[in-house]
Amino acid sequence: MAFDAGATASLWGLEGPLVHAIRSDLCLQGWGWVGADAMARDVLADVFRKVNAVRPTWREGQPDWTIPTNILIERTRCARCHGPLPEGRPKFCSDLCKASHSSSQHSARETKERVATAMAVQLI
Ligand SMILES: [Zn+2]
Repeated sequence: MAFDAGATASLWGLEGPLVHAIRSDLCLQGWGWVGADAMARDVLADVFRKVNAVRPTWREGQPDWTIPTNILIERTRCARCHGPLPEGRPKFCSDLCKASHSSSQHSARETKERVATAMAVQLI
């Protein structure tokens, strides 16, 4: 559902939160952590196999995957506010923009994990 809704670019993006949610639910039912973890991973492995999902390589999972190797793209605008970058600042125009960007990325990640966890718990 989150994949179809565009909340994540890959089914693999939900793997961590789903393993956590399933394992957590099994532990609350009395399973030991090791057994619950193995069961959660088995359940997800079956799901990924059924949809023929192919795990990406480590490099494919990095944010710069779409930039070919050995090509540097010089940024001229701030990644946060899109203002011009001062000399010596490669990505953000100020410490405020850098901190703000980091905070919003963190919030977005936490929100996605909470949504995925809630969805997984409903499925169990
Ligand atoms: Zn900025």
